[in-house]
Amino acid sequence: MTSKPKVAFFDFAGCEGDQLEIINLEERLLDLVEVVEVVSFREAMSEHSDDYEIAFVEGSITTPHDVERLEEVRSNADTVIAIGSCAAFGGINSIRNEQDFQTVTERAYGEDAAMFDDPDAELFDSFEQAQPAKAFVEVEYEVPGCPIDGEEFIQTVTAILQGGDPSLANHPVCVDCKLAENTCAFDRGEICLGPITRGGGCDATCVSQGTRCWGCRGLVDNPAEDAYSEVLQEYGVTTDELLNEFTLYWSWQREHGPQADMQEVEQ
Ligand code: SF4
Ligand code: SF4
Repeated sequence: MTSKPKVAFFDFAGCEGDQLEIINLEERLLDLVEVVEVVSFREAMSEHSDDYEIAFVEGSITTPHDVERLEEVRSNADTVIAIGSCAAFGGINSIRNEQDFQTVTERAYGEDAAMFDDPDAELFDSFEQAQPAKAFVEVEYEVPGCPIDGEEFIQTVTAILQGGDPSLANHPVCVDCKLAENTCAFDRGEICLGPITRGGGCDATCVSQGTRCWGCRGLVDNPAEDAYSEVLQEYGVTTDELLNEFTLYWSWQREHGPQADMQEVEQ
């Protein structure tokens, strides 16, 4: 009998909501555990092993210590999969990337921010920008979302285990929105990022729930070409206007490009 592939989960700067989504899969997770051996998963078990073939990483990279840990994970694993938008493209943590770091520090620490000017204070070293895993190491696959969709996670892992193609869909959320027969958010007077956001994994759930797409799955591969032009034309908005509208999730991605691979380590 061949042994099961060993998998491990690691978290960096993030809320661990993606790992929670995986735990919430319950029955589906039990099916998965039939075909893989989980050797490290802090949210669900106390055991840990560095012997694994597949590593799932969640959260963005914000400190030199994160980089050390991530490089160790990379050297242990044959395959690294970024789960969640923070790990895949910076995500909501990267909202600080376009702000002055001093301002960000003061927002985060309030009056205590003064300790950052104290030469005797022992503080964690932090990068001024939050970055995805692929800014530092090679990442084979991504499962975007804030949080991820559990079903898309299962599909990705299943495809990898079966030697299939776990590529992400590259159609905008608008397509899913049309399929769900939603009223367009623009018709409600809202700006929606659906025309340039990668669909295929959330069924346009936010619009279906009466709000708009905030872009949590990141950009389509080439927003200039892959945007949903029908909506752009009908409502007279451009790709650039949408890219600049709000950058809740994709500040890093907007700077480096949706398809960006490994970048220089920036500190
Ligand atoms: S712009 Fe937003 S609300 Fe309108 S179709 Fe696209 S995703 Fe749906
Ligand atoms: S509709 Fe947009 S913001 Fe909402 S889950 Fe889908 S990609 Fe994320």
